[in-house]
Amino acid sequence: MTSKNLVDGFGRSIDYLRLSVTDRCDLRCTYCMPERMQFLPRAEILTLEELRDLALGFVARGITRIRVTGGEPLVRRDVLDLIRALGRQIGGGLNELTLTTNGTQLAGHAEAIADAGVRRINVSLDTLDRAVFERLSRRDALASVLGGIEAARAAGLKVKLNTVVMRGVNEGEIPALVAWAHGEGHDISLIETMPLGAIDAERVDQFVSLDDIRRELEQRWTLSESEHRTAGPSRYVEVPETGGRIGFITPMSDNFCAGCNRIRVTATGQLYPCLGGGERVDLRSAMRSDDPELRLQAALDTAMKIKPQRHDFRIGAGQGPALARHMSVTGG
Ligand code: SAM
Ligand code: SF4
Repeated sequence: MTSKNLVDGFGRSIDYLRLSVTDRCDLRCTYCMPERMQFLPRAEILTLEELRDLALGFVARGITRIRVTGGEPLVRRDVLDLIRALGRQIGGGLNELTLTTNGTQLAGHAEAIADAGVRRINVSLDTLDRAVFERLSRRDALASVLGGIEAARAAGLKVKLNTVVMRGVNEGEIPALVAWAHGEGHDISLIETMPLGAIDAERVDQFVSLDDIRRELEQRWTLSESEHRTAGPSRYVEVPETGGRIGFITPMSDNFCAGCNRIRVTATGQLYPCLGGGERVDLRSAMRSDDPELRLQAALDTAMKIKPQRHDFRIGAGQGPALARHMSVTGG
């Protein structure tokens, strides 16, 4: 097996894999998917063993961080088996294993996740208001999410919250959400909605630029630029008054592609070198070939050649999604 690390055509070192284990979900966030979402055919979904082998092939090529995501990763049966198998690689090539979850099933899994070696998780939380939560996610599940966040803390997991800011829905609640997060000891990242996949609404009606939100937050607190970085695209500020951090993920208003270090794999084994691009390499056929190891390595080399320099998202009146593919398929 080759030990050549992954470097793309623009000289960027790729050391971070986001692995989607399912595109299914128990919520239907209005910015993410339509109520009647067409999910990937079950027969095409890789087994947990295939996902594990695939991930190990990436680790052999210098991937040091893996984030398990989806869809909602915790709705996949036995996903803990995969998390445990990947956790055993920590220290043996893998430096960090993380998880992004909507939190609905977290209460029952937090301890096992921590036992598997996960130290940090991201939990999506767009509002603290039960009615707004239901309107936003089309499910009445705020209490389970808050219970999940509490269980994660009790299990010793560091929680970062992710909040998509939506015009006319939760945009007025952001200072209160930040105050709550910091009061609970959690950092929080704010995200601009991206035009990924068809939804039951116009993106232009949902979109809020984080520049506006930042100005509002500055009325209340001091936002000091922070050196803090995680593997993702958040740019952080520290808030001395609360002792917490706020991350800004601004794919629309401020492109962050120059520092891109990541690739994504769907639950069907499709490698997308860019969240915002159509470029794709089929790893499932490689994994199911006569020489999976060799074919996987060749596929990774191809992915490095075709990774684009940057995404080009636009949101405008009457403009359809930049990409037909939903974030829940590619893995957020
Ligand atoms: N279900 C899990 C969750 O919600 O955390 C993991 C997958 S979800 C696709 C990952 C992240 O993507 C979430 O924080 C979600 O809010 C965000 N997301 C989904 N669709 C998005 C969109 N169109 N634009 C911006 N963020 C989006
Ligand atoms: Fe599900 Fe996450 Fe998409 Fe919401 S954002 S519908 S929780 S995959």
